[in-house]
Amino acid sequence: MPELPEVETVRQELEPWLSGKVIRKAERVDAPEGPKYRGLELASGQTIQAVNRRGKFLLLPLSHGDELIVHLGMTGIISPNDPGKHVRAKLSLSDSEKPFLYFQDARRFGRFLLVKAGDYQTLPTLFSMGPEPLSDDFNPEQFRIALAKSSMPIKTYLLSQKPVSGVGNIYADEALWASKIHPLTPANKVARRQIPLLVQMIKDVLAASIEAQGTTLNDYRTVNGEVGAYIDELKAYGHKEEPCPRCGTAISKIVVAGRGTHFCPKCQKNKDG
Ligand SMILES: [Zn+2]
Repeated sequence: MPELPEVETVRQELEPWLSGKVIRKAERVDAPEGPKYRGLELASGQTIQAVNRRGKFLLLPLSHGDELIVHLGMTGIISPNDPGKHVRAKLSLSDSEKPFLYFQDARRFGRFLLVKAGDYQTLPTLFSMGPEPLSDDFNPEQFRIALAKSSMPIKTYLLSQKPVSGVGNIYADEALWASKIHPLTPANKVARRQIPLLVQMIKDVLAASIEAQGTTLNDYRTVNGEVGAYIDELKAYGHKEEPCPRCGTAISKIVVAGRGTHFCPKCQKNKDG
């Protein structure tokens, strides 16, 4: 599933291609009517002013006061080339080199819709999202206050996007491993001295993954069709029963909030029992 580094990689590729271009026609292709593609056609005739990102959402402000919102879901891929199947949306652009944008999404969890600029009422995750992890708004003081509000397991709370945006399953496991925090530790029981380290590790893991163009487990591809190379850097995620790179103990895998969760039982002690 694309997380922040993957979406940021896509954003960096889309920005020079799409900024300043006119959407000549925006259309749903093999997608039903409904909230996930609501209003898409109204983007026709508008100019794309920028390609921004908030958490795992791509936000494209348009010239007539609207905003195109794209979420890649589980399997969303944006490409200038017609993938031939599972195309849900298509843009025709005022670009002579790459005149079409295809949004392919095999599993149909993605979204490609239009809202009035800044009106995220219909998108609760975006509406109540925590600060951007790579901004100064995400810092130990802010994070300590956010963690104190929840007794959920820290892993579950990170996935909620509320204490900080953009951290999904892979990077939550990696940041908790790097910080030596057990994923089931209640958020409000994370030791005060560990909070600055966890903040720094979330920033470090995400920044390093953006450098590597993200992590490709299955479907994720960059706009250029490349895979993300960060999979080679993962320390805990996907390494069940392999030795922990720090202490050699076999990595454990449990289910937290319905998601496969990897941790080192020796480095990441569950102090809450
Ligand atoms: Zn270990």
